[in-house]
Amino acid sequence: MLDLSHIPLVDNHCHGLFADGSNLDAAAYRHRFSECSGDPFPPDHTTTAAHYLWALRQIAGALGCEADEDAVIEARRARTQGELDRLFLGTASIDWLLVDDGYPAPDQVSDRDELAARSGIRVGWLERAETVAVRLAGDTRRFEEWDEALTAHLGSARRRGVCGLKSVAAYRSGLMIGEPDLDDVRAAHGRMARMAVPRVQEKPLVDHVVGRVMEAAAAQELPVQFHTGYGDADADLRLADPLHLAPLMRRFPEVAVVMLHGAYPWTRSLAVLAATYANAYVDVSYAIPFLTAHEQHAVTHQALGAAPASRILYSSDAVGIPEQHWLGAVRGRRAVGAALGEMVDAGDLSGADAERLAALIMHGNARRIYGL
Ligand SMILES: [Zn+2]
Repeated sequence: MLDLSHIPLVDNHCHGLFADGSNLDAAAYRHRFSECSGDPFPPDHTTTAAHYLWALRQIAGALGCEADEDAVIEARRARTQGELDRLFLGTASIDWLLVDDGYPAPDQVSDRDELAARSGIRVGWLERAETVAVRLAGDTRRFEEWDEALTAHLGSARRRGVCGLKSVAAYRSGLMIGEPDLDDVRAAHGRMARMAVPRVQEKPLVDHVVGRVMEAAAAQELPVQFHTGYGDADADLRLADPLHLAPLMRRFPEVAVVMLHGAYPWTRSLAVLAATYANAYVDVSYAIPFLTAHEQHAVTHQALGAAPASRILYSSDAVGIPEQHWLGAVRGRRAVGAALGEMVDAGDLSGADAERLAALIMHGNARRIYGL
């Protein structure tokens, strides 16, 4: 096993921190560790999930309390949010947090300056295209006006300090993204504008927004992140298979396409894409999806099994509470260190190769493609 405890991390996909999450009760805390949308939330759902039981023990160790849920909740509540930030983010050796601004809603989380101040970590920003498209629909009336505003906004991303664009097409009409007829896009835009809560949902509109994203990314040499694979029940998982993105990668060969979450459970498919398309990248996130050590170990081997290490990036996908960003770092270092160590034992890699590949995965590739 390679010891990666001191290797600096670039967390290339995570989310913001709640302004104050120190007083969460047990029910709310469990929610932070589940993608289940049940209402009411099934009480057995998280408490019998192996990943949560493991996480509680790690968190209890950091807090210096008994390794059970009640003790963890009590120990968190006895600390200020600032103390929790320092305890978890101050010890994780993270150089950069690259934050997706689309979730949670901006009014629930610290803004980027506050996040940098709270965490002591440099913060980069990815802009979620569907959120931008809806916001601009509120500021414009005609389709052409909206489309021009969208193009102009995305086209100024680099100038505004954004380090990449993000799409959640997988959560809408799916990743089979084509080139829609403009009349269909115009009609779908009209229906969106009349919705009580506008949402980029219909396929012509989703595909059109992604097309604008890819054009803007190509012009500014920005990477584009796509949600792929495991998400909450809002996504139709059948439409989130990363293989659907192959035609888009052929259409925009100059754009680095980062497919998030190891596209779990399609990590092998994703690794094959990264082996065959020069612009395809595998993000493996270690706080979410919620998996056991064994499964994260398998996923890491699947990524490394086919994809060049220059196409694999570490992330946490952590949301809301600092222990998730920290848990991602702990789990990611462990899984990548174990997988590379085993590849040395198997004769795939020399020790020096393994060290070099670890540095690429944990920070080097992200620094290169996001220009950090
Ligand atoms: Zn995410």
